[in-house]
Amino acid sequence: MSTEISSAQGGIGSGLKQRTRAVLQDAFLRQAVAFTTNKLRTGRLSAAEEFGDWETWRSRGQAIRQDTIEHLDYYLGQFAEQAERRGARVHFCATGDEAVQVFLAIAKEKQAKLVAKGKSMVSEEMHLNERLREQGIDAIETDLGEYILQLAKETPSHLIIPAIHKNKSQIAELFTKEAGKPLPPETKELAAFAKRKLRQFFLEADIGLSGCNFGIAESGTVTIVSNEGNGRMVTTLPKTHVVVMGMERLVPTFDDVEVMLNLLARSATGQKLTTYTSFITGPRQRGDLDGPEELHIIILDNGRSAQLGDPQFQQVLHCIRCAACLNVCPVYRHVGGHTYGSVYSGPIGAVLTPLLQQDMKEAGTLAYASSLCGACYEACPVKIPLHDMLVHLRARKVKEGYTPQAERLGFQLFGKVFSQVKWYRMAGKAAYYGQKPLVRGGVIRKGPGPLGGWTASRTFPAIPKQSFRDRWDKLQAELARADREKGRDS
Ligand code: SF4
Repeated sequence: MSTEISSAQGGIGSGLKQRTRAVLQDAFLRQAVAFTTNKLRTGRLSAAEEFGDWETWRSRGQAIRQDTIEHLDYYLGQFAEQAERRGARVHFCATGDEAVQVFLAIAKEKQAKLVAKGKSMVSEEMHLNERLREQGIDAIETDLGEYILQLAKETPSHLIIPAIHKNKSQIAELFTKEAGKPLPPETKELAAFAKRKLRQFFLEADIGLSGCNFGIAESGTVTIVSNEGNGRMVTTLPKTHVVVMGMERLVPTFDDVEVMLNLLARSATGQKLTTYTSFITGPRQRGDLDGPEELHIIILDNGRSAQLGDPQFQQVLHCIRCAACLNVCPVYRHVGGHTYGSVYSGPIGAVLTPLLQQDMKEAGTLAYASSLCGACYEACPVKIPLHDMLVHLRARKVKEGYTPQAERLGFQLFGKVFSQVKWYRMAGKAAYYGQKPLVRGGVIRKGPGPLGGWTASRTFPAIPKQSFRDRWDKLQAELARADREKGRDS
C-alpha cells in the first residue's frame, strides 16, 4: 500500500508529526527508501575506499569550499564578468520571486510557450513550474525521476533520486494514463516510453532550463553532472538556455572543480564520474556545432547571504548537494523526504530550510527531526558539521520563544534538579517509587504523557532501587572500613 505524503499536509513544522505518522504506516515507501539509501551508502563507502586517502580528499574539498564562501563576493564578480565576456547574460536575484520575474521577462521576450527543464532544486525553491503555469507556459520536467513526479503531481523526495519512493507498478500506472494505452511495469518499456515522449519536448521547447552543480569563477563556466542525457538536450537544443543556480555554487578554478567532481560523484552515487559531465562556457560561438543562441544565468540569493559571516551557520553554504547525509540519516531512512514538508529534506534540509526561510517557528521544528548521531558529518564529503548546526538551531528556536510553555518549564525544572545533588537524589528516589505501577519485568512498556512517544516503539528500562551514586557511596564506605581494619591489625 502506498500513502501519498505531501508537503500539503500541514505546515513544515506543525504538520511534521501528522506526516510522520502517515508515512510510518506506508510499508512500501519505507522499504523502498531504506533499500535505495542502503545501496547508495554502500556504493559511497566502496568508492571512497577504492579511491584511497578519502580523508585527505575530504579536507581538500572542505578547504576549497571554505575559500570560496569566505571570498564569495570576489568569486561571484569574477564568475559574472567571465561569463558575460563569453556572451552569457548574468542576473543576480535577491529572492525567488525576483528570479521568477527575470525568467518570465526572458520567456516573454522569446514568446515562449514550452520550457524543457533539467533537474534543478533551485527552480523548486522558486516554485517555478506553478508560476509559469499561471502565465500559460508549460514547463516539462525531463529528468526521468522528475518527470514521474510531475505526472504524479508530487515534489522530489530525495536530492538526487527524486522519485526514490515510487515502484515500477506505480510508474507504469502513471505512464499508462499519459500514453493512453496500457504499459507493463517493465523498466525497459517504461524508460523507452519516457524517452520517446521527452524527445518531442526537447525539439519543441522554446527555452531549456538547467541547474548548475558548479560555476567555475576563472572562466564563467557552468558545470552540470547527470546520469541521463536530458541535461545535454535541454542545454543544447532549445534556442535559449537559462541556468538557475544558488549563489554559493561556485569554485574558483578548473583544478578545484576536478576535486569537487571526484567528491560529488563518489558521495552521491558511488560512481567515479557521472555518465555526463558538461562544461558550458557562454552560448553557441561561431563554428560550434550545437548550443543555444542565448545563455542566461540566474544567480539566486534567497536567504543564502544571511548566513555569510555567521560563525554557526556559514558552513551550510559549503554544501554540494550530494545527498550522502540523507542516505545515512536514521530519520530520513525511516520517513523519506516528503515528511519534511520542504524542498530540501534530510539533515541538510533540516538545517537549510529554517535558515533560508528565516523561520524558526515552523521550519525551525525540522531541527528536531534528528537523532544528533553525527552520521551526516561522517558522510559529508566537505565535512559540514550538520549535527552541531542542528543543536544551534534548537537553541535559537528556544531563544526566540517558539517552544511550548510546558516544555520550557519542564526543562527549567530539569536543569534545577540536575544541578543540585540533593534534589537529584530525591528525584531519583521519587521516580523509583513513582514508576512502580508501570513496571513489568524490569521495563516500562507504556510510558505516561510525553514518555508515551518513547515507549511507542521501544521499552524504557526501569529505574533501579539503588542508584549508581548510592552504590558508589556504599563501595567507598566499605573500602574505607577495610582500610581502617587493616590499619588496626597492623
Ligand atoms: S551537507 Fe554534505 S553530505 Fe549533505 S548534501 Fe551537502 S555536501 Fe552532501
